[in-house]
Amino acid sequence: MKRLDKDLPLYYFQNLMNFSHLGTHFVTSRHGGVSSDSYKSLNMGMMQDDPVDNVMENRNKVAKAVGLNANDFVYPVQVHGTHVPRVYEIDRGKGCHSISDAFADTDGFITNVPRLCLMTLAADCVPIVFLDPVEKAIGVAHAGWKGTVLKIPAVLIDNMKSEFGTNPANLIVGIGPSGGPCCYEVGNDVVEEIAVHFNPSQVTVQRDGKTYFDMWKANWLTLTESRVKQENIEIAGICTITDNHTFFSARRGDNGRFAAGIFLV
Ligand SMILES: [Zn+2]
Repeated sequence: MKRLDKDLPLYYFQNLMNFSHLGTHFVTSRHGGVSSDSYKSLNMGMMQDDPVDNVMENRNKVAKAVGLNANDFVYPVQVHGTHVPRVYEIDRGKGCHSISDAFADTDGFITNVPRLCLMTLAADCVPIVFLDPVEKAIGVAHAGWKGTVLKIPAVLIDNMKSEFGTNPANLIVGIGPSGGPCCYEVGNDVVEEIAVHFNPSQVTVQRDGKTYFDMWKANWLTLTESRVKQENIEIAGICTITDNHTFFSARRGDNGRFAAGIFLV
């Protein structure tokens, strides 16, 4: 990833930057906002104890930095599932000002509507962004350990195929900052779930009697199984637990959420 500062520090995937004439994406950090305490400072999530005015000011700052208005976004209420709806023009602005009209039970979006920014929120879960430069369509997914195990990237790609005629071989994908294999410890219950869908030896790391889930590798495997080309997948390789001074980490006790977004120009 590459960091560029324009009003705020924002992070970009190099592979997607090659297609900036078609789409713009970004990953926010925890810096540049107005929230306090464990939401400090650029909390993008509507949380109980972070005043809505703070979140709205943060969201407005991000919108301005990427050349959009606050109403050009859609936000989900994430539940670690695999529901990935298509977003239409009529949905523009849903979830921007309140969770009451956000997309319920949603862990990803796809669209082909220009200047409508699909958002996902994370703090250790894996944000993943997708661009189909041929059919001019985009997607975002939120893959925590559950979404990763349930292979939400494959669900999203299937939806892009049926809705937009996407050929997975054309997709450009970025796997964002999240809990990494260095820190993302999991218990036996999670290892059992992993084993249902993956070969655990491929996606877990054993160290000092503990097991760590490599969600980057697991999502990479799901993408390549879905026929995304290896050379079109960029892994940020940034662990939010290690690099907690830059990104929110739930496991470090943060209540804030950073965001990944993408929109067609
Ligand atoms: Zn780490």
